[in-house]
Amino acid sequence: MEFTTLNNGIKMPMEGFGAMLMSPDPAQTEKAVIDAIDIGYRLIDTAAIYMNEEAVGTAIKKCGVAREELFITTKLWVQDAGYEETKKAFQTSLDKLGLDYLDLYLIHQPHGDYYGSWRAMEELYKEGKVKAIGVCNFYPERLTDLCLTAEVKPAVNQVELHPFFQQENALATMKEFGVQPEAWGPLAEGNHGIFTNPILTEIAGKYGKSVAQVVLRWNTQRGVMIIPKSVHRNRMEENLEIWNFELSQEDMDKIAKLDKGHSEIVDHSSPEFVKFLHSAKVH
Ligand code: NAP
Repeated sequence: MEFTTLNNGIKMPMEGFGAMLMSPDPAQTEKAVIDAIDIGYRLIDTAAIYMNEEAVGTAIKKCGVAREELFITTKLWVQDAGYEETKKAFQTSLDKLGLDYLDLYLIHQPHGDYYGSWRAMEELYKEGKVKAIGVCNFYPERLTDLCLTAEVKPAVNQVELHPFFQQENALATMKEFGVQPEAWGPLAEGNHGIFTNPILTEIAGKYGKSVAQVVLRWNTQRGVMIIPKSVHRNRMEENLEIWNFELSQEDMDKIAKLDKGHSEIVDHSSPEFVKFLHSAKVH
């Protein structure tokens, strides 16, 4: 495992476990998170809207690994945007997770009064209740505005990043402001024929690796943290075995050509999507 140092000096694992597990069954989340920690994942990524913070908290309690060795991320949902709401939502998440501090707290979507949220998060950070604060889905213009106006700059921006949506322009903006990129959907959510793509399959064969391993490795080699999700223990193991090989520049260049330049998962600029985000409730 490699680590990155965030813009406030905090060390964060380059790879973590994405806990957006589709099943409403808390036992599945609990088992998956315990398996992931047992295999060696230390960064766990959840969110209020995943409705599984209690199950993640139970797994953290039962896993047998000391709290300080884990790196726990959760996210503020749109419904709780605003200064007072954020303070309350943060405490609710902490209580559900059974923790007394968070490693990383992220604004999940740039909607509602997220500047009020940011002021609350800056205070929580200064009080030591969270080690780092950041955002998700902040496209370049929104990230630039926040970075130019915030007292504490976001440490992380979690956005969709995989071979079919590479977002080099977004990465350039993050680099300019010292914001660490983190990929959601690093396996393109398993869709878009990613695992049978001929170029990725050929590269995988060359290194004796799987397509999943090549794709995850590719993102880390361009400085992007990854949080793949799986409910299968063998896939969790496979996804973690990416630290013993290196893609050549030639293969990095071949993967660069797979970029479609747009997301096929979600259109953040669509008014319908924004309405959907506001309609989703966590309480
Ligand atoms: P993902 O990690 O790109 O892909 C997960 C899918 O790939 C699942 O269907 C999984 O199936 C499958 N898979 C995993 N490893 C595999 C392997 N080695 N071989 C074949 N299939 C494999 O998608 P994601 O869950 O959307 O993204 C990862 C994490 O990012 C989430 O869990 C969440 O924490 C975060 N996220 C954040 C946002 C945001 O707005 N901030 C949005 C989306 C996601 P099985 O589970 O059946 O193995």
